[in-house]
Amino acid sequence: MAKKNGTHDLDVTIQCPACHEYGVFHTWDVIDTADAKLSERVHFDENLFFYTCPHCHAKIHMESKCLYIDRDKKLLVWHIPDPKERVTSKEVQDALGSPSFTTYTCRAALTWGEWREKIIELESSYDDRLYEIIKYGAYQLLSQEDKDRLPLEAYHIDYADDSHDPDKLALVFMQKDAKGMAYVYPITEHLKEVTKDIFLPIIEQIADANRKAQFDRFGYSWARQFTTYIIKAAEEDKNRETYGNLIGFWVKTIGDEIFRAEVKPE
Ligand SMILES: [Zn+2]
Repeated sequence: MAKKNGTHDLDVTIQCPACHEYGVFHTWDVIDTADAKLSERVHFDENLFFYTCPHCHAKIHMESKCLYIDRDKKLLVWHIPDPKERVTSKEVQDALGSPSFTTYTCRAALTWGEWREKIIELESSYDDRLYEIIKYGAYQLLSQEDKDRLPLEAYHIDYADDSHDPDKLALVFMQKDAKGMAYVYPITEHLKEVTKDIFLPIIEQIADANRKAQFDRFGYSWARQFTTYIIKAAEEDKNRETYGNLIGFWVKTIGDEIFRAEVKPE
């Protein structure tokens, strides 16, 4: 019998970096969406992974390993802060309470922010890798001045509005040194279609079919590598003009569909 709720919590003893006093941090190493309240917190509670020191009240951002399980949507998303660490099948099977997870989409993320972003992307009906390509492409269109003002580390994908519709996502550019100030650009259906038509066949062509349960990190760096590879391959192809035109058309579509106002593409 498979477990119905694999949520697992633990207490970790913390020495406060500010006052050096000890305290206990309550956290989770497995979060299962069967626990609806906790799942809600993953999506909307910014303080979920913060430790508040009971002695000096310093707020400390904690990074620790955690697996997110959604049995209905068949998602497994690991937050693994150490990029060198690999998870074993046994760890996943133990958390899931089931020997097989081949029907699940498996992903890994390095930070809590990336982890939440990945969960939101995977809950939509659109391919998360295509979202990452759109995210990467749009950032390339910013001027250097805007890149300095809207840093990459705080740039992310989130819900476009308060309806929290999983199919209405947006690119969110946070302004440096202005807490909470953000530019929100909804990702349009047309841009999604164009990106899918151009890139999905290539992703499917180069993807290893056996990698389904591999917990890959399909984030910004992956999108950068992938796009660089595509452009290089296009330059070497005999149909380079066709590919070049397609990429040019895609870049123009991002400009038209995303940046209609505030941020002007170069
Ligand atoms: Zn303290």
